[in-house]
Formats: sequence, C-alpha cells, structure tokens
Amino acid sequence: MDRLEYALFRILRLFRRTPLNRVLSAGASTRVFAEYFKDFDKVEAVRGIFGEKTAEVLRNLKVDLTRFSGYMYVDSSNGHLVVSARYLNSGDKVDIYLDLIHELYHVRQLMEGKELFDPQYSYVERPTEIEAYRYTVQEARRLGLSDERICEYLKTEWISDRDLKVLAKAVNVTCQ
Ligand SMILES: [Zn+2]
Repeated sequence: MDRLEYALFRILRLFRRTPLNRVLSAGASTRVFAEYFKDFDKVEAVRGIFGEKTAEVLRNLKVDLTRFSGYMYVDSSNGHLVVSARYLNSGDKVDIYLDLIHELYHVRQLMEGKELFDPQYSYVERPTEIEAYRYTVQEARRLGLSDERICEYLKTEWISDRDLKVLAKAVNVTCQ
C-alpha cells in the first residue's frame, strides 16, 4: 500500500461508523458532531484546528442533516454545520473528508468572532475562505493527493473557470 492508498484507507475507516447510508425520513435532523462523525477528535488535521479543545468543540458542535442538494456549510446564525444527507450518502469520501476539514476550520473562525460571509468580498477572494482552503489543501497534500486531484476538488459548480484560477493561485495549487 503506498502513501495515498493508506490515506484513503484511513479516510474510509474513519467513516466506517458514520451511518452515511441511512435514508432520512421527512424533514431535517440534528445530531451531535462527535456522535455522528466518530473519532474525528483523533484526526491530526482536526486537532490542528482546535488543539486541546478538539473533543469539547466536537461534542458541542451540532450537525443539521438536510435534504437540500448542496454539500455542506456553517450556519453563522447558530454555528451549526449543515450537511446535505444526499451528499453524505453518495459523495466521494475524500471530498467529504476535505469538506469537513474546511468547514471545521470555519467553525474555528466563527468561534474567533470572524465574519464568515463578508459580502464585500467575492467567494474566492474572501479571507476566511482562502484561510480555510489553504488549511484544507495542506491536508490534501499531506494525504498525497496530486495538484490535479486537488484542482478537481476545488472545482465546484458555483465557481467559474476564472474564479477557479484565482482560488488555485491563492492556495498555491497548479490547475491546468
Ligand atoms: Zn468555506
């Protein structure tokens, strides 16, 4: 097993006890992060965000599983992590893992009193986004993902090719 395979194996193992394929009945449901995503308090990249407070933060963090068809985001009005159940069920596990790291970084920013959705910046130029993406890219590289794969991760429906270039440059990733 090479480094990348081992990293992917560990990510899959991390989700082993997360009931991803449980189909939601009507409406949203709220869970406790630490109870839904098990063992994330032991993940080095998560500990790098919250330090000694990691277990406590993850025990206090609420996850709203919703039926909306996006990915995930932090609701800055209540600090909840809002996650699409469909994305959890069918999304790529590496993407989901990296999204969780990215969103947990936003949780820290919110705890620090930062404005997550400052409208004076576009998405790809917002300092809170660049900071969260830089941290996520660092973790992706540590896992052994190539720039090509990281670019794929950065490329989402809501950002244009031009914006992808701006974001990639800000986080020092080479996109073709
Ligand atoms: Zn973000």
